[in-house]
Amino acid sequence: MSARVAFLQLYRLGILLAVAWLVHAHHARLRIEGDAPVRVSEVTLWFSNATQLELDLGAHGGFHVLDQSGAKLGYVIRTLPQAERILGYCGITDTLVALGSDDRVLGFKIRSSEDTKTHVGDVMADRHFKKTWNGLTWEQVASMDLAKAGVEGVSGATKTSLAVAEGIVHRFRVAQGEAQAKTWRWGARDIGLAIVTTLGLWMTFTKRPGRERWRRWFQWLVIGYIGFLNGDLLAQSLLAGWAKSGIAWHQSPGLLFLAAAAFLVPWAAKRPVYCQQLCPHGAAQEIISRHAPVRWRVGVPESVERGLRCLPALLLLFVLFVILLPLDFDLATIEPFDAYLIRSAGVATLSIAVIGLLATLWVPKAYCKYGCPTGALLEFVRSRGVGDRFERRDIAAGVLLLLAIFMHTQHAAWRAVFL
Ligand code: SF4
Repeated sequence: MSARVAFLQLYRLGILLAVAWLVHAHHARLRIEGDAPVRVSEVTLWFSNATQLELDLGAHGGFHVLDQSGAKLGYVIRTLPQAERILGYCGITDTLVALGSDDRVLGFKIRSSEDTKTHVGDVMADRHFKKTWNGLTWEQVASMDLAKAGVEGVSGATKTSLAVAEGIVHRFRVAQGEAQAKTWRWGARDIGLAIVTTLGLWMTFTKRPGRERWRRWFQWLVIGYIGFLNGDLLAQSLLAGWAKSGIAWHQSPGLLFLAAAAFLVPWAAKRPVYCQQLCPHGAAQEIISRHAPVRWRVGVPESVERGLRCLPALLLLFVLFVILLPLDFDLATIEPFDAYLIRSAGVATLSIAVIGLLATLWVPKAYCKYGCPTGALLEFVRSRGVGDRFERRDIAAGVLLLLAIFMHTQHAAWRAVFL
């Protein structure tokens, strides 16, 4: 591989990872800050040298407290939104908990509350209650049984104080649960998907005679197993969810293996393994166009073709807007892949699937060429080998990355314009 080709491939992978990281950071910020971002002034009670708060994108989902030199002084977490279902006397309470550099609780304070003001004041005035968790570790707070620990609440503000206590324990439990749920779970579904993916890889690279005949049988397996039985297709809704919330690799290792093969094989070895072998909708289109009479084929005029080929890229742009603004829009409705989950498929998804399959009677793989954003993403990372050049797709991807950076850093201004 020449240096130019290696650089191009690193550029493409870098763009993909950078956009995914921006989406992840953006949603972590929205999730953690919610409608009331934590300010440095709120933590100086425990950390007098604090000058900045650094968002923690890990499972604990809080903020590192830093001094001017960037040294870590401690950590803070707020109980909302995770504890938004825990009601006190007449509403929810947002509490801020501080932990020292030894990961032990220093104290808590109420940031805001919908509860009765006098009750909230009583809670914060009760010195004994305020020290309930002081000195405890993450694990000790998360596993705390409030009744057994003798946490009875503050006299005159029992419901409010117990809601604060439950909110703190719940928040630590959520953080600990997310931190600990990282063990691989290989179920039958994952093993099946890994086997079919491996067969697809073999089909991609083998040169054995009879390969084309086996591939035709394999396409039916892909439609039946990956499509209708498993429903584990790569789609914008799945990739956006992974970028936003992280990959559930420990829960869906089979799907992760499929996705890794789909992106890494074309990136490293030029072969579009997912689109050629493993996508049920691609296989269905290929089967239909194989059986459609050749006389039905129509040529798409070049000017129309040029316009249509822009559609997948425009859909990717739309997806970026939806996930960064964020808009309340179901990304599954812009692709046909949910149609394979017949019972839960919506009208839009089914329509795109049916129209795409019908179109292939006249234009082979019409949907793949002119409508598929997921295919466009996989095609973007695919190497073209020694003749590879910096192309329009690379410029477009660079522009998308700049747009994502702008939307992430200027989020408030964007929301004001579009929402
Ligand atoms: S372009 Fe889209 S529909 Fe076609 S094979 Fe690839 S992922 Fe499937």
